[in-house]
Amino acid sequence: MIKLIKFRTLEILRNIRKLKWLADLSHTNNAILAVDNCFATPIVQKPVLFGADLIIHSATKFIDGQGRVLGGLILGKKELTSPVYDFLRRTGSSLSPFNAWILSKSLETLDLRVERHCKNALELAERFQGHEKINAVRYPFLPTHDQFDLAKKQMKLGGGLLTIEVKGGQAACFKFINQIRLLSITANLGDTRTIITHPATTTHSKLSEEDRLNAGITDGTIRISVGLEHVDDIYDDINQALNHA
Ligand SMILES: *Cc1c(COP(=O)(O)O)cnc(C)c1O
Repeated sequence: MIKLIKFRTLEILRNIRKLKWLADLSHTNNAILAVDNCFATPIVQKPVLFGADLIIHSATKFIDGQGRVLGGLILGKKELTSPVYDFLRRTGSSLSPFNAWILSKSLETLDLRVERHCKNALELAERFQGHEKINAVRYPFLPTHDQFDLAKKQMKLGGGLLTIEVKGGQAACFKFINQIRLLSITANLGDTRTIITHPATTTHSKLSEEDRLNAGITDGTIRISVGLEHVDDIYDDINQALNHA
């Protein structure tokens, strides 16, 4: 049975990325903590070490890593996962053998790929700091990130995603995106190819403006899911597009 607990919403929003804090809050209120670890992958962050009860991944992202198949994972103790397993078994939403084979092959290279995604992302974040067309660069492993200390505690690497804040808001972002030549422009993430996204008009367009701003997404925010290309090729394409925007 699900028991709804009246949490202090603002306090949760302020602490939303502190896994240990969230686990303690959940457990003292007889609730379970489920963490969507899709952006991090198990290579970057293991929420179970901080007390999470259920961990969820979209395998469509870094776990496949090459934009080929859809899939998902729910991990946790058997008493929590077996009702999910039973439900999926009875309702038929299971992976095809071919897609399962693709994902199991992908797992063999997950650590290699994620390390390269993270290395490229950190390198780009450092290079774009102070760029004249950008107001800010956000990446958990940049010392300028307001949760740098927390990220270093919870994460082994900084992850494959960063955001840049393009000067001039949405109009400048759209000009920038139209100038991109090499990289993909879509709302996916975690692919071999670097992906450029404008969250305010795509992934987060259903949020109210207030909720979006609370989540740190402005009209000038560009999300970059950094791929496995040579970092100079990624940098050059973004840089030329920014300079034409
Ligand atoms: C994409 C995504 C999902 C949904 O995954 P699907 O494989 O598309 O069902 C869930 N959580 C996060 C954080 C995602 O990026």
